[in-house]
Amino acid sequence: MLKNEFQAGGRTPHHEQLTGDLVVVGGGMAGVCGSITAARQGLRVLLVQDRPVLGGNASSEVRLWALGATSHMGNNNRWAREGGVAGEILVENLWRNPEGNPILMDALLLEWVTREPNITLLLNTAVSAIEMDANGGISGALAFCSQNETSYTLTAPLFCDASGDGILGYLSGAAFRMGAEATSEFGEGLAGPEPVHELLGHTLFFYSRDTGKPVTYIPPAFAISDITKIPRYRELRVTDTGCRLWWLEYGGDMDTVHGSEEIKWELWRIAYGVWNYIKNSGEFPDAANLTLEWMGTIPGKRESRRFEGDHILTQQDIVEQRTHNDAVSLGGWAIDIHPARGVYSAEPSCVQWHAKGVYQIPFRTMYSRNIPNLFLAGRILSSTHIAFGSTRVMVTCGHNAQAVGMAAALCIEEKILPRELLDEGRMERLQRRLLRAGQHIPGVRLRDPQDLASTAKMSATSSLHIDTLVASGELRDANMPCALLLPVTAGPIPAISLLVDAATQASLHMEVWKSSKAGNTTPDVKLASADVVVEAGQSIPAKFHFDAHIDQDSHVFFIVAPAAGVQLHMSKAQLPGVLTLWQTLNRAVAKSAVQNPPEGSGIDSFAFWLPERRPVARNLAVTVDPPVQCYEPEMAINGWGRPWSGANAWAPATEDTAPRLRLKWDTPQTLRTIELTFDADFDHPMESVLMGHPERVMPGCVTSFTVSTAEGETLATVAEHHQSYWRLTLAKPVTTAGIELAILGHGSAPPAVFEARCY
Ligand SMILES: Cc1cc2nc3c(=O)[nH]c(=O)nc-3n(C[C@H](O)[C@H](O)[C@H](O)COP(=O)(O)OP(=O)(O)OC[C@H]3O[C@@H](n4cnc5c(N)ncnc54)[C@H](O)[C@@H]3O)c2cc1C
Repeated sequence: MLKNEFQAGGRTPHHEQLTGDLVVVGGGMAGVCGSITAARQGLRVLLVQDRPVLGGNASSEVRLWALGATSHMGNNNRWAREGGVAGEILVENLWRNPEGNPILMDALLLEWVTREPNITLLLNTAVSAIEMDANGGISGALAFCSQNETSYTLTAPLFCDASGDGILGYLSGAAFRMGAEATSEFGEGLAGPEPVHELLGHTLFFYSRDTGKPVTYIPPAFAISDITKIPRYRELRVTDTGCRLWWLEYGGDMDTVHGSEEIKWELWRIAYGVWNYIKNSGEFPDAANLTLEWMGTIPGKRESRRFEGDHILTQQDIVEQRTHNDAVSLGGWAIDIHPARGVYSAEPSCVQWHAKGVYQIPFRTMYSRNIPNLFLAGRILSSTHIAFGSTRVMVTCGHNAQAVGMAAALCIEEKILPRELLDEGRMERLQRRLLRAGQHIPGVRLRDPQDLASTAKMSATSSLHIDTLVASGELRDANMPCALLLPVTAGPIPAISLLVDAATQASLHMEVWKSSKAGNTTPDVKLASADVVVEAGQSIPAKFHFDAHIDQDSHVFFIVAPAAGVQLHMSKAQLPGVLTLWQTLNRAVAKSAVQNPPEGSGIDSFAFWLPERRPVARNLAVTVDPPVQCYEPEMAINGWGRPWSGANAWAPATEDTAPRLRLKWDTPQTLRTIELTFDADFDHPMESVLMGHPERVMPGCVTSFTVSTAEGETLATVAEHHQSYWRLTLAKPVTTAGIELAILGHGSAPPAVFEARCY
């Protein structure tokens, strides 16, 4: 029995002092991805999260689907899904949880963090104070866990604020801003004439469930009773649950940090009032059997403080796709701005302006400009309110934080502070390490002198060519513009044969376009056009010849104009870096098929060319003459880890039943590490919750394989593989004249290998 007598002067809570290399505050997608990246580089990471689970807005406590540059596949950013840890988590979530159950996403994040031996995870632990050192840096963070009644002092040479509101930055005195800038400050066309306190607000979601029998609903007294206060109430649908209710937003004109509890109460009033309207207004007979299964208890926060780094990301960085020597990450979500009054505003709930492609995010936005050892991760990134409209999404936050985690590793190794990474040579090291870990830095190719694969002679049992996409018998009316997006090698543009059914004689028109910027997949440069007349009939080939060429390997659009009475034959063939696109819109992220921005806004007008999702997605059935030879073995060592101005993959011919990729050296090499990256379909957004997906493994992914030496020693046998990245670290180095990858299994598409590296 424990008996404690009265203690004069009171007691202090149990206290623990923890020391690491990096303290990360906040366990949202940013904190998680940054911590794992740093820990994998050998840093001792202390990750503090005030909630019982990880993920922040991606957790089951808020239930938002994590998204990034792919933007629900609703813009022209092809193959833009983030890499590294963030990508790995999405791919793993798809493998384990294709139904998008938020509880399973929680469990995955918890597993991914706790399996890293270098991470000390403190859940239910909130940082509330800090200690500063004599150099103006942070020396300690003070935290308390109410569950185990323990206070912590966390010390490290480096700190990363991934807390969303920026508790470390705020307490340390780091420069920050809140609200919207005026145009005069950065020249942003979308900004207003005056700086204003207008932010994006908070939101609470709910889930409903069909019980199979009528369910009565009596709302709490605090629920709003007059639904007409919400101008958009007529758009409510019974099927809207979870983050489809993103527009139940409130508080953007308030103090979104200190007013957070007040905002939450209003959101509860709104959400329970909306459910009351659905259940009891008589407008929704389909709701009779529904019960309110889950109601959010903490709001999803969109915007509060944005801290200032050495660079503040602006609208122009995004729209003009400006390049930066210190580029370490990418963005690609639209500039997505909401009215500050949220659900009570009569304005549209959001306006989204897309760029023509993904944009670089520089490292200078990821550390405080005046607190020397403070990294910024997540939505507190250094950006204007307008640019924040794009950078704020969670996979972008996670991907940026990976750059922070890797930067922290370099800082510890070299005993330097974040800003010093901008010095000669260091930024290249940071970029190289990031690219090796799967980071996508638009336009930055991995060139690694240490990589022995770059000196190898590449060969393979066969290589795929883009020759004929065989017709499957399925037809589509040629009633909207569509395009075949092909990776074409430098030289003349090949002729393309379509296969069509025509009710009467018809004139077909095809245009060839490319993008003005390398890596983009927005057609804005016309190269050629051709017309072909076809007679009435079925399965008629229509061959288009073009008098044009390209100087560099590039993605090229073969655009088929609509033609009355014509049907296009489709193909089930899927090839890496090849897509059929439709000039249409995705209502989740755009209001029209052609973006029409206001005059003077600085936003480009262009058409959206969108692929369909599997399982309905099909390619146009075509013959390409001469065939495009873009999947040669050398592609696996060209430094690009995904389709970018080309397919950048080796893939074997379809008839090759035992495909092998071989690396050979004239003199034997001693290898310790082998890295391969496979095709986990970077075009797929892999929304993490709510929205189910039909596949668990991407069709072009290599699912089973062996890696052996030229001398016949098997180094690895792998089954049930589904990730893009694979790494083998040999317990004992091997000396060999070559390495062979034998592909034993893959999905319905040709297996593609983007990268092979040896060290
Ligand atoms: C309604 C809504 C819709 C959105 N739509 C999308 C979308 O469709 N897709 C998308 O990807 N993004 C979307 N976003 C944006 C996105 O959710 C946020 O910008 C993103 O979550 C920011 O990531 P983060 O890691 O910085 O912050 P968070 O996800 O907020 O994570 C920060 C974590 O830090 C913790 N924390 C805070 N203070 C402390 C402290 N003192 N000590 C310890 N821990 C602390 C918090 O509890 C939280 O778990 C939306 C946001 C909202 C609210």
